[in-house]
Amino acid sequence: IYNRTNQLEGRVILAYDITDRKKLEKDLKDTNESLQAQLQENERLRVQLQEQAIRDPLTGVFNRRYLAEALDKETARAVREKSPFSLIVLDVDFFKKVNDTYGHKCGDLVLQSLAKFLQENTRRSDIVCRFGGEEFVILMPDAAVEDAYERAERFRNNFALQVVKYEGKQVKSTFSAGVASFPVHANVGETLLSMADLALYQSKANGRNRVTVFSPEIEEPAPAK
Ligand code: GH3
Ligand code: MG
Ligand code: MG
Repeated sequence: IYNRTNQLEGRVILAYDITDRKKLEKDLKDTNESLQAQLQENERLRVQLQEQAIRDPLTGVFNRRYLAEALDKETARAVREKSPFSLIVLDVDFFKKVNDTYGHKCGDLVLQSLAKFLQENTRRSDIVCRFGGEEFVILMPDAAVEDAYERAERFRNNFALQVVKYEGKQVKSTFSAGVASFPVHANVGETLLSMADLALYQSKANGRNRVTVFSPEIEEPAPAK
């Protein structure tokens, strides 16, 4: 403070206590950080849950629900792009006997080894799904019927050579398969699935450990008595 002749006469000092404000700022920052962490955790759980909803817990391949969705999408894409696609339905032969002879745990191992085999031997764009029990479906985008048949035959041959080791025993299994393709057999996903299933039934009826391509001559199985 200066007087009239501009000489310094005194000073005014203002001091504010900002402890509360600083504390508030820090609290806000902490809250923000924990909120961020919570958000990240939520996202991680969401992704995990989404994965669980579309995967088979025993084998890690896709489940039936996912296949239904993928089949719809693939049909739409194939129509749009005028490209073929194929379905292979396969079922382990005499699987009940594996369970009965070696136990359910060994049966589980066979299913896991088949799922692993299929995942390792299919293309990245192929969708491997456990359809139920010991039945698997492979959706093959862009594969026409001959291609799908050849690949199914190769899978069948190679899988038949594999052994699952269980409690010192060597367990071998085979599977039978049926193939149906868009657009030569049908243009509706669900219909193709039934056709591949019918072809699979034919493979079973003809002695198992074989692949059959759908044809209209294949007869519906007689209803179980
Ligand atoms: P086929 O050659 O005609 O297919 O005969 P199969 O014995 O394979 O067929 P069946 O339908 O008679 O038996 C299938 C068995 O698969 C019966 C069921 O207990 C068993 N199974 C289904 N799911 C599982 C599973 O997750 N683990 C194990 N270990 N067995 C399963
Ligand atoms: Mg079976
Ligand atoms: Mg079966």
